[in-house]
Amino acid sequence: MRVAILSDIHANLPALDAVLAALGEVDAVWQLGDVVGYGPHPDEVVARLREAGATGVRGNHDVAALGFLDVEWFNSAARRAVEWTARRISPETRAWLAGLPERAELGEMTLVHGSPRDPTWEYIMTTPDAGASLAAFATPCCLHGHTHVPAAWRADDDGHVELLRPSDGSELALDARRVLLNPGSVGQPRDGDPRASFLVMDTEARRATWHRVAYPIATTQADIGAAGLPRWLADRLADGR
Ligand code: ZN
Repeated sequence: MRVAILSDIHANLPALDAVLAALGEVDAVWQLGDVVGYGPHPDEVVARLREAGATGVRGNHDVAALGFLDVEWFNSAARRAVEWTARRISPETRAWLAGLPERAELGEMTLVHGSPRDPTWEYIMTTPDAGASLAAFATPCCLHGHTHVPAAWRADDDGHVELLRPSDGSELALDARRVLLNPGSVGQPRDGDPRASFLVMDTEARRATWHRVAYPIATTQADIGAAGLPRWLADRLADGR
């Protein structure tokens, strides 16, 4: 089975459409949360994911847009975007987001937004955090997002944890070692490369491949401006920060 793994789409329709066009034939689309927030196209992105039959989990921005979370945790631009999203989304979008679980197990994969220890909130940024997370799921592999940076953390037989920093075209063979795979962000990459980031997994060949694809950033930036969302949210897309 060929599965597309998408995370942190953040209501950026041109980025999602570029990714879907680049994917070619896939058997499934799995998403790892933060479908909305920051970006100007929440209803359009959810509609596209529904058309694609996507399944997945909720992120902190999705929960906040539903009003299930205190937005005092967010910086001011993120908070303004969450409040804008909460006002704008349709009842259908709201119902779809509300139906996303915080954790899912699909085949050999556990899906979370942040980490298996704290699915909604924890950022896996350090080796100790990754080591603790690698012991916190029941399947061989865990897929997560939230950092907006593509990564793979892998535990060797001796318990040593290594970090791989994938770029466009990087492949990882999925063997007996436990691994955390982060596809990076479709709609707001933060690793200095502004292109949309995603992962394709071949479950028979046991291989994960990271990809980057350019999209019309200026279109999203113009729509952020037209929506009255903070200018910084448009500017950062061009920098990939
Ligand atoms: Zn996010």
